[in-house]
Amino acid sequence: MEKKMVNSVTQNIAHRVIDYLAPQFCIYCDQQSHSPEAVCEVCQDALRVNDQACPQCALPGMDGRLCPNCLKAEPALKTVTAAFEYDPAIAYLMHRWKYLKNRNLSRTAAKLMLNSEICIKNVDIVLATPLHWRRKLRRGFNQSEDLLSSLSRLYPPLQPTPKKRALLKRCIATKTQAHASRRERLSNLQGAFTVVGNVHGCSVAVIDDVCTTSATGNAMARVLLDAGASEVHLYCLARTPSP
Ligand SMILES: [Zn+2]
Ligand SMILES: [Zn+2]
Repeated sequence: MEKKMVNSVTQNIAHRVIDYLAPQFCIYCDQQSHSPEAVCEVCQDALRVNDQACPQCALPGMDGRLCPNCLKAEPALKTVTAAFEYDPAIAYLMHRWKYLKNRNLSRTAAKLMLNSEICIKNVDIVLATPLHWRRKLRRGFNQSEDLLSSLSRLYPPLQPTPKKRALLKRCIATKTQAHASRRERLSNLQGAFTVVGNVHGCSVAVIDDVCTTSATGNAMARVLLDAGASEVHLYCLARTPSP
């Protein structure tokens, strides 16, 4: 007990010193966040939590009921969990993270996901959504891999399975799916992913930054299930509402 108290006092002092020497500012309000995160508590509370989503695919604004697509046919993904609705606030964070290459924001994104109290299942294999090597080379990093690394540092049960991060590969550099029709999305994704290891009988969690449509997630889930995975879940920071 005493040791715990000493640790917490030491941590408190360390935070204050870091706060003084290298203050962190909130990306939204420019105020000091008084934490290692780039989003202060007030701005964090203003983000739109995705708590009225379709329980299957996390489509926002469904009052907790299945959306028309999930009612029509059961998707390959067992569940999709998205912490927030994708709105201009999340778009701003994503822009700074992905396109302005502020990679420290992966920790903030991970912390936001965990603070939203999403429920992460115990699974056998944890993977990040792969980027095609050409896109990764152009951007310099895969934000989903960064998100998974940050999540596993903050939430130790979610460890990427060693040597298995490359279990799933993206073999075709698909175009961005955001403005494609459903038919275009499905044909863009044909043969886009391949499994390059043994997933037989394993439950799998895939970590992604934003789920725009669940087409990409379902394409990954399909190849993993075809390779023998028992179930596939997708966890992401945010999910876009239906257009
Ligand atoms: Zn703020
Ligand atoms: Zn749905």
